[in-house]
Amino acid sequence: MSDDELYLDASATEPVGEDVIGAMRPFLTEAYANPASAHQPGKTALRALEAARSAFAAGLGGKAEDVVFTSGGTESDNLAIKGISMARMRAMGLGPGRKAGEGGVAGPPRIVISSVEHPAVSASADWLAAWLGFEVVRIPVDAQAHVDLDALGESLEGEAGERTTLVSVMLANNEVGTIEPIRDIVRIVHGHHVPLHVDAVQAAGRIPIRMRDWGIDALAVSGHKFGTPKNLGALLVRGGVPIEPLLSGGGQERGLRSGTQNVAGAVALAIALSDANEKMRRQERDLVTSRDTLIDAVRRVVPQAELTGDPRRRLPGHASFVFPGIAGEALLVDLDAHGIACSSGSACAVGRHELPPTLLAMGIGPEVAQSALRMTFDAPLTRGQIDRIAMALEDSYGRLAGR
Ligand code: PLP
Repeated sequence: MSDDELYLDASATEPVGEDVIGAMRPFLTEAYANPASAHQPGKTALRALEAARSAFAAGLGGKAEDVVFTSGGTESDNLAIKGISMARMRAMGLGPGRKAGEGGVAGPPRIVISSVEHPAVSASADWLAAWLGFEVVRIPVDAQAHVDLDALGESLEGEAGERTTLVSVMLANNEVGTIEPIRDIVRIVHGHHVPLHVDAVQAAGRIPIRMRDWGIDALAVSGHKFGTPKNLGALLVRGGVPIEPLLSGGGQERGLRSGTQNVAGAVALAIALSDANEKMRRQERDLVTSRDTLIDAVRRVVPQAELTGDPRRRLPGHASFVFPGIAGEALLVDLDAHGIACSSGSACAVGRHELPPTLLAMGIGPEVAQSALRMTFDAPLTRGQIDRIAMALEDSYGRLAGR
């Protein structure tokens, strides 16, 4: 990225720090042995893997034995949604070849998710419906993307609750930055004896997470959102939560994720999370101040702009808007020409011209939803940068709106 390029797409991915690269290097060059090998070099690699596991778990308020290293957020969500649901389905007597009521609860197995989940969760739930006959229940959200807690409680009552294998709600929303009240959600879900999976991909390294203290059963994170190379992540699963592996093989990672472990990747996850948590503590206030200054500046130059998501309970470096009357993609391209890289909401939808699903679930009509713009950053913006963004937006919006 050149110096005059302003990167405002931290929610899509972040750069890898020099110290992370430095910490990985020995495990790619000298200490490269397979951590499953019985010889001394293998033991050295294993020690590094386990030290990384402990440090990484601690950074999320979990325990070393909770951690299953994976290839990232998508795999972690798939493992939680499919793995826990399949294991619980079997325990409920609803496995393939058995009919409802035959030695188990009546009716099909169910999974309950919020209506604003990332496709890694929502498409995994749809897979359970398509292949194993699950009923998928999507809990509505309000106009700021908060999950409707009454609807969640009602969805778990009575015999329907007894058929529910898992509830999945994200900690922070990728499109609009809203932070969900996870501790209230844990209380409701556990009140019905159902486990809770939390997609914390956007939250890890950006807001504090205490997996064990909060009572979360499974937690998915992705390294490239907080400074590791892409395709690294983890699912943390509390012992005692039934879970079936999705990959068959050598039985690494407690049998939950077969495949030779990526020691350098595990080290990267531990170092990058520790760096991100430290940076979070140091700069949180400045990040929030610059976010709110940016939001005010955008509204001043384009009074038609509307902030999406919760104005306060949102990720510290996340500002998202709709600009009624213009196309978000056109705005994105125009800002890019000004050297400002942002997103229309979710990196996964870019290029496919899909409407942002969270905005639709929040009750925003398709016409307005297609005008979404998301600006996300991992360091406080300077006054000069905010002025530059505001000037570019004023210019682009004015042109696109024909003013
Ligand atoms: N969940 C959320 C909330 C995300 O924002 C993303 C990626 O943007 C993912 C899951 C998928 O993570 P990954 O890119 O590591 O597969």
